[in-house]
Amino acid sequence: MAAQDTGNAVPMVELQQVFKRYGDVVALASVDMVVRKGEFVTLLGPSGSGKTTLLNLIAGMAQPTSGRIMIDGRDATVLAPSKRGLGMVFQNYALMPHMTVYENVAFPLRVRKMSSEEIAHKVNDVLKLIRLPDIAQRKPRELLGGQQQRVALARCIVYNPSLILLDEPLGALDKKLREQMQLEIKRLHAELGITMLNVTHDQDEALTMSDRIVLMNGGRVEQQCEPEELYFKPCSVFAAGFIGDANLFEARVTGVDAAGVQLSSTSGLASSGMPPFAVKTGDAVTLLVR
Ligand code: ADP
Ligand code: MG
Repeated sequence: MAAQDTGNAVPMVELQQVFKRYGDVVALASVDMVVRKGEFVTLLGPSGSGKTTLLNLIAGMAQPTSGRIMIDGRDATVLAPSKRGLGMVFQNYALMPHMTVYENVAFPLRVRKMSSEEIAHKVNDVLKLIRLPDIAQRKPRELLGGQQQRVALARCIVYNPSLILLDEPLGALDKKLREQMQLEIKRLHAELGITMLNVTHDQDEALTMSDRIVLMNGGRVEQQCEPEELYFKPCSVFAAGFIGDANLFEARVTGVDAAGVQLSSTSGLASSGMPPFAVKTGDAVTLLVR
């Protein structure tokens, strides 16, 4: 399911003016952010930019210092994690080592007090869905890294959450496996239509997987938009430098017309389309060349 035609619908997640402080450390500052229903959104940013903090606030594992978190139209700012209708997948799998794959996936259903038949039915279905129907009786340590992550995903999907949060779930995998798992997660997203919010510091992963990207910088949202817009119309030098290969030149505006702007820099003359902010002749600007 893509993000189109959801203009007036209630967002799955909405953060309004969210702040989070740990003592003197401001982990999040004035974050406004939306995840629409059915979207695949990625929180992208360098280490320490507040991605995990943001995910934890949405999951309910911590509470904001101020601001409001809406989930599916409800104020969830201080709601217990179990009441939020979401699932979470972490980098370090967090499967229970003494339990088989079957028991790991069945666990959230047992907590919900389903009957054994219903549990068997759902667990077998979801193991087929993640294409691992034959490993039900294995223990997590007998699985490969990518398989463990698929089981962790299955354990979320099995109870039909309306939102899945993924905190760098592919961070521990090598490049080839990571790319396979990106496709696998996108396939599940398309087949199930579950809203997904993924965290990564890997720009390629963000560009290939996301309907939209929320770029974080020092606890703030730098830019949130579609990958293409972030690539072609970064709103700042930080955004330009974080996504894609960027050559930056200090330049001065020598003329503005309907088609765009003319520029002069120490490296020569250039022209560009209209930037996403107002400019006039004489302004000092930074020119980005991909
Ligand atoms: P990211 O996931 O983007 O790497 P985090 O959300 O983990 O970033 O951290 C954002 C900032 O908040 C960092 O400066 C980090 O040191 C700080 N921080 C996160 N959790 C805590 C905590 N429990 N206590 C104190 N500082 C924290
Ligand atoms: Mg983190």
